[in-house]
Amino acid sequence: MEKDSGQRMHTLAERLFPLFRSITGDGLRESLRVISEKIPIEIKAVPSGTKVFDWSVPQEWKVREAWIRDSHGNDVVNFHDHNLHLVSYSRPVRQRMSLPVLLPHLHSNPKIPDAIPYRTGYYNEDWGFCLTQNALDQLHDGEYDVFVDTELFDGELNYGELLIPGISDEEILISCHCCHPSMANDNLSGMVVATEFASRLLDQPLRYSYRFLFVPGTIGSIAWLASNESLIPRIACGLVLACVGDPGPLTYKRTKKQNSLIDRAVESVFRSLCPDATIRDFMPYGYDERQYGSPGINLQVGCISRSCYGTFPEYHTSADDMSFITGEALQDSLEKIERVMFVVDQNARHLNLKPMAEPMLGKYGLYDKTGGAKSGAFNELALLWVLGYSDGSNDLLAISEISGIDFEVILQAAQRLTEVGLLGELTE
Ligand code: ZN
Repeated sequence: MEKDSGQRMHTLAERLFPLFRSITGDGLRESLRVISEKIPIEIKAVPSGTKVFDWSVPQEWKVREAWIRDSHGNDVVNFHDHNLHLVSYSRPVRQRMSLPVLLPHLHSNPKIPDAIPYRTGYYNEDWGFCLTQNALDQLHDGEYDVFVDTELFDGELNYGELLIPGISDEEILISCHCCHPSMANDNLSGMVVATEFASRLLDQPLRYSYRFLFVPGTIGSIAWLASNESLIPRIACGLVLACVGDPGPLTYKRTKKQNSLIDRAVESVFRSLCPDATIRDFMPYGYDERQYGSPGINLQVGCISRSCYGTFPEYHTSADDMSFITGEALQDSLEKIERVMFVVDQNARHLNLKPMAEPMLGKYGLYDKTGGAKSGAFNELALLWVLGYSDGSNDLLAISEISGIDFEVILQAAQRLTEVGLLGELTE
């Protein structure tokens, strides 16, 4: 992979970082527009109030100003200083109040006392501010003026979608959330890796079609699923990309099925390339893999991260800033995701066409008569594994798992055997 793709992803994240995103609104639209400069996503709109399964698309939310001032007129917090200061979807308020009345509306994170936490209240008829623990500790008794100049109105929920057609109508789904305000790892990393990945697929011949979704978390994937029920059966498998920019080792969260094609492909890549990676079982908490894996949808969509959400102290705070993600980590994530998709793409079942005892490999130029070369011997072993297990029931991933030989060596063996007519690919 060209060396500057990590830097390109980091630069794109830097550009997106200051935009004020939420599950609706101008910052989300502008973020999608910036991505549309890199890859030809369509920016879709679902009107507020649209029923999407058990949910309804919320109103759009707009912020003009939000601050708290003490009795001397000094700002305690101001939304214009950092967009995490205001709880997302805060309802408007203009009121003078005492500290005990104000306190229940204030949120801090004592674990990182100089970071501002991230809080949302999409469906609460309430308002709130987030501030550092250090700032909170300095508040004294007295009167405070609170001003939240926000507006909720009938508008739309937006998401970005790109279908890159392959030979087959069967699709791979790549999904990322794009609804968090200024946070780098939890949000922007997934968006920029998905963008770079899509741009690299655009000029490649593909077996599967690829569908990329840039959706506001939860409500966005639910809105997409509800509007595209007829497409769901086409999706062979997929990945949610989230928190893929920090320098920690990779983490994979399995699908509920645990051993679906995507699970096996990720495990194969991790086994050969990422010995320090972690694999976790599915649980109904996390990102949009919850929606894709719900019983009525039942898609095989896992989630790739580096440090897992909720496990790093910077998670959902202002400390998840641009210094927390690196071009090297973004690039490494992209390379591994590309390897996984290569495995998904190349995996197939075959039939040994000379199954009555072992074929005489020397006749086909597949047996190194002089012997000795270690790599040659190893490849011959791979040939024997593929021939021995290609009875129609094992795919190449299974043969790699059983033999302990890397998928790519097994794949090369299968390709060589196919060339000389000893192996035939099964399409069903
Ligand atoms: Zn998050």
